[in-house]
Amino acid sequence: MNDYGIDIWSDDNFIIEDGLAKVNFDCKPSLISIVKDIRKQDFKGPLLLRFPHITKKQIHTLYDVFNASIKEYNYQGTFNAVFPLKVNQLPNFIHPLIHEGKKFNYGLEAGSKAELVIAMTYNNIGSPITVNGFKDKEMIHLGFIAKKMGHNITLIIEGLNELEMIVEVLKETKLECPNIGLRVRLHSGGSGLWAKSGGINSKFGLTSTEILEAYELMEECNIVDYLTMIHFHIGSAMNSIKPLKKALRESGHIYAELKNLGATNLKSINIGGGLAVEYNAYERTRFYSLSEFASDVIFTLKDIAKQKGVDEPNIFTESGRFISAASTVLITPVLELFSSEYELDQLKLKEKNPPLIQELFYLHRDMTKKTAYEYMHDSTDHMESLLTLFDLGYIDLQDRSNAEVLTHQIIKKAISFLEINDYGELKKLNESIQEKYLLNFSLFQSLPDYWGIDQEFPVMPLTHLDKNPTRSASLWDITCDSDGEIPFDSKKPLYLHDINLNEEDYFLGFFNVGAYQDTLGMKHNLFSHPTEVNVVFKDGEVVLEKILESQKIIDILEDIDYDTDDMKNILRKNLDPEIYKDLKKYLSENSYLKTIWSYYE
Ligand code: PLP
Repeated sequence: MNDYGIDIWSDDNFIIEDGLAKVNFDCKPSLISIVKDIRKQDFKGPLLLRFPHITKKQIHTLYDVFNASIKEYNYQGTFNAVFPLKVNQLPNFIHPLIHEGKKFNYGLEAGSKAELVIAMTYNNIGSPITVNGFKDKEMIHLGFIAKKMGHNITLIIEGLNELEMIVEVLKETKLECPNIGLRVRLHSGGSGLWAKSGGINSKFGLTSTEILEAYELMEECNIVDYLTMIHFHIGSAMNSIKPLKKALRESGHIYAELKNLGATNLKSINIGGGLAVEYNAYERTRFYSLSEFASDVIFTLKDIAKQKGVDEPNIFTESGRFISAASTVLITPVLELFSSEYELDQLKLKEKNPPLIQELFYLHRDMTKKTAYEYMHDSTDHMESLLTLFDLGYIDLQDRSNAEVLTHQIIKKAISFLEINDYGELKKLNESIQEKYLLNFSLFQSLPDYWGIDQEFPVMPLTHLDKNPTRSASLWDITCDSDGEIPFDSKKPLYLHDINLNEEDYFLGFFNVGAYQDTLGMKHNLFSHPTEVNVVFKDGEVVLEKILESQKIIDILEDIDYDTDDMKNILRKNLDPEIYKDLKKYLSENSYLKTIWSYYE
């Protein structure tokens, strides 16, 4: 049976039981039962299911593992963490996170004015806020206002001009200065797809010379006491821990040197994000555990503090992907299987058929388990010859259609004879036997990192997991763009089930989509965010909360600045009232396709 690599990527959050993908928590509901409940309320199209209990588990794990390591090494600093809002700013994700984080003093990181406003409004007072990224005077002023509200906020300086602006705002507003952090530009870079966030050529941070200049400027302006934090971030999704160790040594020494210069309130090192999650269904790509990660951070910083005779720093992390990725599952209904166009009842043989078509007919009729592979191979050869004969005008359209139907049926029959162990043989024929699964979603909206940087996501059907999947699958989305495809990859083959959608529904789940995808997604073809639902557990039952339906067509149009009243007037004027009534109904629906047939209703 194919388990779709669940042991590699699911971290026990999801399991396969009785042929169904289930949530491994509380009453262990199957994902299909949750989907059925939502669809009963007439929410069709793709769904984003959020599981706040998984976010909670990740927050607890992060703090527990770091605190255990602190205890083990008798480390004198504390562990602190913030969630970087850029990784997922949406309220349905953020509100439960802030609620769960309260007991740990878990805070937020902001990288823009809008994110800072979210943090100022909702962060638990006393929990840290860190502010990264390029800032103007207005953003710095916002930081001062947050401080005035009582927030524990640190403005992390990316360049000397930001420090100068802090001094200006301080003079102009007479508000109390927030804490100041210095982002250091390390010479050690990261690893993995996003490594360019670190290293000497990275976009962010101060060089050694700039750090010393910044320190002098702070001394001159009498604000050294506000310097509390050194920050670095070597890139997201580190697959190896080695670059982090180098970065820790480098930043640890910078911290110690600044302390020895007289930065008495400098007490923290913020190591940014970068903790990876497993997306791969075939082999592990993250080569360290969280405990190893925490031990390395604590051991290295302890060692440097001892060597340089300074206090052991408090540790801050800004892990985003680790906290949020697993919490969200994208569910896409399969709308169509393209080879279903070639069913046997579409075969219209003539009295007298071209010899190759007659041959295809016999291959199909006489195939046995023993001859399956050979006949399948013969059929694809014959098909190619028949296409050439069509181009030369020797066979007609009906012959060509018969050839297509027979070849697909031969392949289908052969696959049903081949056992799962014969995948090696199947792989050889991938090109000709691929099935195209049309999925009701937009890849650009819901998996933008697949489109942008080839980030793979684990995918698995929600049902039929006790049956052998026999079709090598290419996945198509419903955008009018040929990039909206996840093609079959023979190195990481995806096999799905041969489903008759006239008899039953079939849904695929894409897992670990809770980091970065939600707001990076774009409205290509004007497909908006899918309907999202928070799935929570109360008294052993599933409760669906905060159902947020995908945007209505008319609202999408308004969002891109169409005058929708004007549009409605034009349409109304040009249609008779009865027909306009139908049209109006469509304007207030979302733009995803409605599944034509629904077995579960
Ligand atoms: N902190 C900073 C400054 C970042 O730029 C990022 C993302 O690149 C993060 C934290 C979050 O990283 P991750 O999601 O890999 O934990």
